[in-house]
Amino acid sequence: MPMPTADRTAVLIVAAGRGTRVGPGAPKQWRDLAGQRVLDRTVEAFRAAGFARILCVLHADEQHLAPNDVTTCAGGDTRAASVRAGLEALAADPPDHVLIHDGARPLVSPKLIAQVMEALAVHDGAAPALPVTDALWRGGAHVTGTQPREGLWRAQTPQGFAFPAILNAHRSHDGDAADDVEIARAAGLTVAITEGSEDNLKLTRAADFPRAARLLETPMTDIRLGNGYDVHRFGDGDHVWLCGIRIPHTRGLQGHSDADVGMHALTDAIYGALAEGDIGRHFPPSDPQWKGAESHIFLAHAAQRIAARGYRLANADVTLICERPKIGPHADAMAQRLAEIMSTDPGRISVKATTSERLGFTGREEGIAAIATCALIGG
Ligand code: MG
Repeated sequence: MPMPTADRTAVLIVAAGRGTRVGPGAPKQWRDLAGQRVLDRTVEAFRAAGFARILCVLHADEQHLAPNDVTTCAGGDTRAASVRAGLEALAADPPDHVLIHDGARPLVSPKLIAQVMEALAVHDGAAPALPVTDALWRGGAHVTGTQPREGLWRAQTPQGFAFPAILNAHRSHDGDAADDVEIARAAGLTVAITEGSEDNLKLTRAADFPRAARLLETPMTDIRLGNGYDVHRFGDGDHVWLCGIRIPHTRGLQGHSDADVGMHALTDAIYGALAEGDIGRHFPPSDPQWKGAESHIFLAHAAQRIAARGYRLANADVTLICERPKIGPHADAMAQRLAEIMSTDPGRISVKATTSERLGFTGREEGIAAIATCALIGG
């Protein structure tokens, strides 16, 4: 048998049922699943796997609800009758193969479909299933017996067949059946079992909808940005501390710690990204133990908070705003020192500077300002 191809295969999606087990409301194929109708998702799953010829078997009253760009036909009173109607509709231009699928299995994967198609190269029929792993009981209110589970499978769809073979099987079958495999086997066809998936669930009860919605969620990369701004005033002194580097200068910066304005801005950016306030919240200026504390204690704490909250630092960018001292010759050493305090790669840290064209308080050299931005990645 030739390898079945998507362009010579039709997809027959059965969605004519009333789905009473799901509870009051619209039949399940029309219900919303994470912002899209169940049947639209099911159709999309096959399109994504490369199938263009898709026939939806719908209830006679619901033909107008059909998804875009599919053909439809009216279903019958039973599932078998609905599939038969679909097969007869396809018979006018018969495909080589047909995949018969439950409309209420929207999470079918391209891989699962491909495995069914591969098996059809050597078998009349192929369908996915999962081995039963739970113990099986008989009973009602009480357990009245157990059923050995060896050799038992939970059947799924799509169930694939050579088209003429399954059409003939349906034409010669009376009454309903659990699925098309039953009808195929009754006609003597061999049906291979391919690998099913727990995610290929059939939406049957109300609780299946939130479960399917969770499976559809793509994990969101959690990115957090923070900014920080700080200013310290010049006073007497012969050096300044900027981003952890001591720079000789004609004046010093005033502040209750070492007045490292750049490191303070960066520390606040991190707290901001974590929505954990600012340095003052973690190290209150009113607390004597922080009087004169070296700023690397604050930055190291903020870096620890990044890890404790389950994030990593993507990058940080610090800009110092001053006329003097000249920052350029020290910028690399500053980035190295900040990275060392934060236990991160210096390539993730930028330190740069600008003047303010002699305008404003920084231009008049009354103080130094710093702004900082950081990005944290989590999830
Ligand atoms: Mg400060």
